[in-house]
Amino acid sequence: MSCQSITILGATGSIGQNTIDVIERHPTRFRVHALSGFRRMDLLAQSAHRTQAQRVVVPDQARAAAFRQAWPKASPLPQIDIGQSALSEIAAADQTDIVMAAIVGVAGLPAVFAAATAGKRILLANKEALVAAGSLLMAAVKRHGATLLPIDSEHNAIFQCLPPAPNGQIDQSGVRRLVLTASGGPFRQMPLTQLATVTPAQACAHPNWAMGQKISVDSATMLNKGLEVIEAHWLFDMSAAQIEVLIHPQSIVHSMVQYNDGSVLAQLGNPDMRTPIAHALGYPARIEAGVDMLDLATHGRLDFEPVQTERYPCLGLAYQALRAGQGACIALNAANEVAVQQFLDGQISYLEIVDIVCSTLDWQVGTSTAAINSIDDVLALDQAARTFARQWRPSSQVSHFASSNLC
Ligand code: NAD
Ligand code: MG
Repeated sequence: MSCQSITILGATGSIGQNTIDVIERHPTRFRVHALSGFRRMDLLAQSAHRTQAQRVVVPDQARAAAFRQAWPKASPLPQIDIGQSALSEIAAADQTDIVMAAIVGVAGLPAVFAAATAGKRILLANKEALVAAGSLLMAAVKRHGATLLPIDSEHNAIFQCLPPAPNGQIDQSGVRRLVLTASGGPFRQMPLTQLATVTPAQACAHPNWAMGQKISVDSATMLNKGLEVIEAHWLFDMSAAQIEVLIHPQSIVHSMVQYNDGSVLAQLGNPDMRTPIAHALGYPARIEAGVDMLDLATHGRLDFEPVQTERYPCLGLAYQALRAGQGACIALNAANEVAVQQFLDGQISYLEIVDIVCSTLDWQVGTSTAAINSIDDVLALDQAARTFARQWRPSSQVSHFASSNLC
């Protein structure tokens, strides 16, 4: 098998580093073409040096200088490119076969779209891109013959449980519904009255997964599961009514597909993102991931319980956004990105995250009639929703989403 060239967008993050871990186990199968990083230039330099990356992309001149500073003096520097357009360029470069999309947030969307338009094999971790631009992205993938393989563990599990169809497509015939499992996050059993005072450190302390800060907070609020419901809608062409969420605290069953005949297929494994990463990198081959093998006898039991809607109102908001349409999904995601950052920065309380998301959804449904026909349209609405979310104050009027008992 020939050596495949890979570009990792978001190489310094949790998914990016796990991807490097997997590809280093297969030096004759994969080589790195380009890496991108946003803040941690020491880690980017170390990763680029180790993987012998040809190119790196950083956000600005100051970070380029920090990268050069961190680079081992005796080695020749890789090509250093700067800015958003360079991200799209490395994602679409002829020298790249596979693009790992592991930037967090809508910031990753233009590069994912560029990879789709260039017909690449895209390993999609960056769920926010699909939430904000699902129809445009799926259409680009189809039109340009790209391949989209899910990295999110739930979607990767579902992909594995669906019958394969030609050309890397999936066949949903006979599927009754998808069941996304959710750990419930760090606050699954905390008395509701204590949620008002939880700290960012507590919210980021996920019981089963070590992840970036933003997705960790999203897992606590379950907005993450909401984004995943929307992601599943686009990836597998299922309606909101066909996608169910089930709490499974051990994170061993990564998700399930229920068929018309009553069969339920599930994918199991230890909670380690190197499994879905290796699955998508090797697909259809099964390659070594460095993951401990699952030992069910040691675990002893697997538990499941329904979602308590009053504990996780963000999940209900995501369902509402999916039913309301693309504009609402863009607003949901943008408001959440703003709110989570404000929470991490100590500017708002944990419970205000849902207030901001709820109010912004209300604003979007009530005011925005803009058509969404291009990535520029998506980004314009994303910016407008961010502006609204940043201006939110506790005294803001109660939104009509609140009247549905979700907020
Ligand atoms: P992270 O915060 O650890 O890493 C994010 C990466 O994106 C870093 O390399 C960072 O430098 C880069 N980045 C951040 N802001 C950027 C910007 N404005 N422009 C360009 N680059 C930027 O995040 P993560 O946990 O690795 O998650 C990455 C994506 O994968 C997210 O969309 C997340 O929802 C998804 N995901 C992560 C996990 C996981 O286990 N970590 C699981 C499923 C899905
Ligand atoms: Mg997930």
